[in-house]
Amino acid sequence: MAFIEIKNLSYEYEIEEGKRAKALDGVSLSIEKGSFVAILGHNGSGKSTLVKLLSAVLELQSGEIIIDGVSLDSSISDEDYISIRRRVGMVFQNPDDQLVATVVEEDIAFGPENLGVPPCEIEKRVKDALEKVGMTAYAKHAPHRLSGGQKQRIAIAGILAMLPECIIFDEATAMLDPVGRESVMELIRALHRDGITTLFITHNMDEAKLADRIVVLNRGKVYMEGTPKEVFSRADELFSIGLEVPQSTSLAIELKKLGMDIDTSVISEEECADSIARILNKGF
Ligand code: ADP
Ligand code: MG
Repeated sequence: MAFIEIKNLSYEYEIEEGKRAKALDGVSLSIEKGSFVAILGHNGSGKSTLVKLLSAVLELQSGEIIIDGVSLDSSISDEDYISIRRRVGMVFQNPDDQLVATVVEEDIAFGPENLGVPPCEIEKRVKDALEKVGMTAYAKHAPHRLSGGQKQRIAIAGILAMLPECIIFDEATAMLDPVGRESVMELIRALHRDGITTLFITHNMDEAKLADRIVVLNRGKVYMEGTPKEVFSRADELFSIGLEVPQSTSLAIELKKLGMDIDTSVISEEECADSIARILNKGF
């Protein structure tokens, strides 16, 4: 069943008086409950515009967004709107923009406090959320003293404390160092295994390949859609719009060019190594 249904969504920004620029152009997408979908596209392809429409930061201009049966248009009731905001959490690129309090546990309590959750329940939720993101030891710390990856995990804990069903990550790993990036990716995968519907926006191929399904956006349109294997086996089309393929796929393509009869649809190191080993064993 679709949790998020996007139908023929278009959006234009007014750049100056009378001059408009299309950021989304007829996007249709369906995000199944419990799925892990990556939206891949380079800068300016419309990813954040899509996220802002999903979070109702931007007002709908044309097309439809239906979240768990509720249409996100101007006729939405306040009650439905608040419920959707709770059930669909957002994590953005810059962790500093998302931290509001001076103590980690207060920061995580902020969302449920706003929802009017009783204090004893908040305490439990904060404790559970800290555990889930592996930051229990930092409950009393000052968020601004943490590393980027730790801050991002606290931002995620703040969302978890609202008991969301779906989390949308808009380039949530883009500003992190490799260690922070990996810890946040690991956490996102664990949350998905726990049943959270995950919409993961990125321009990193090696992150996108971890999703169940990839939707490639280009110039505001869906350019390609499929499993990571399907998408990355169409390398030439990706190259033509300035995107790349995961490192293992890239290595396989280079080896093929050198005359090795290798499967270029490999997307992981293991698959790539297996493929090379098979050829070597056959006496390449
Ligand atoms: P992405 O997140 O994929 O980098 P965006 O959704 O941010 O893409 O941007 C899509 C297009 O819309 C780009 O051409 C960008 O320049 C334009 N755009 C984004 N935000 C604004 C804005 N506030 N005003 C005018 N144009 C914008
Ligand atoms: Mg963006």
